[in-house]
Amino acid sequence: MKQDNQVFDNLLDLVGNTPLVKLNKIASKLKGNFYAKLESFNPGHSSKDRIALHIIEQAEAQGILSPGDTIIETTSGNTGFSLAMVSIIKGYECVLAVSSKSSPDKIDMLKTMGAKVYVCPAHVSADDPRSYYEVAKRLHSEIKGSVYINQYFNQLNIDAHYKSTGPEIWKQTEGKITHLVACSGTGGTISGTAKYLKEQNPNINIIGVDAFGSVIKKYHETREFDEKEIYPYRIEGLGKNLIPGATDFDLIDEFVKVTDEDSAHTARHIARTEGMFVGYTSGAATQALLQLSEQERFKENDLVVVIYPDHGARYMSKVYSDKWMEDQGFFDSINEASAETIQY
Ligand code: PMP
Repeated sequence: MKQDNQVFDNLLDLVGNTPLVKLNKIASKLKGNFYAKLESFNPGHSSKDRIALHIIEQAEAQGILSPGDTIIETTSGNTGFSLAMVSIIKGYECVLAVSSKSSPDKIDMLKTMGAKVYVCPAHVSADDPRSYYEVAKRLHSEIKGSVYINQYFNQLNIDAHYKSTGPEIWKQTEGKITHLVACSGTGGTISGTAKYLKEQNPNINIIGVDAFGSVIKKYHETREFDEKEIYPYRIEGLGKNLIPGATDFDLIDEFVKVTDEDSAHTARHIARTEGMFVGYTSGAATQALLQLSEQERFKENDLVVVIYPDHGARYMSKVYSDKWMEDQGFFDSINEASAETIQY
């Protein structure tokens, strides 16, 4: 139970109810009113706390899970962290099968949070018994009393946002929201939030953000899987090389694609202008908003909510490292290195 005096029984009472904060500088010259939903205010610092808690609680309610049982997922990202956090508090084992491409930092972070991490070779195909998908599936079949979260295909991922993110935004904007801009990875955030918002007002515009190199936008437009759309890109957490079952394409009005480079510069710009230290995909979502604004898509009285899924601290060795930016060639066109360090 949340309490007025800010004293809580445990960390899980702090999941959700994240703040909506006006973008005062970055959007000051744009037509419309822009607000960021700061998901880094969740205790695990990302929107994934919502699905981790919801999916686990649903399994408990169905009697599938009891203390000591095992939670299994294939991710080294935010979902892994949130699952590990919820597992510690509720007394479950957390087993994560991750790709050998995952950075040592991420693996250490998950281990710190008590997860058992299986590092699986990145170069094998998805149906190879050594792939992280197959390892997770095998562990699930072998471990009695285990739950496989399977966030890309789990409808409870959508449900978590339908029950929390959507109602929060509706209430915070007093029903005045006209547009939602959100990155789409599993699609759970945008689909669940859109479902709730469209039930309140079907005219709300739902705009998904996709990466160049991902199939999602093209699939939305044609309902065909076009392999030619797929190529490597750097932003983690949005876009995909498969069609996630946790995306309800009918609820999304359009997708906007953004580049790695623009998104990285925009993330850094948000930190410098708004003082918000947010993740790479927050830069991507804001970049999409800026592109739409350039096309005069927003009117003076529009109220646009953009989801900022996580915190910048998770990207210190990437977007917020001048060396990384330089290595990617991102400083070639814009020279915006971090503020100078003065050595005494
Ligand atoms: N941004 C980040 C940093 C993420 O980790 C994710 C989740 N993959 C997303 C955006 C997209 O959220 P969703 O999976 O709900 O579409």
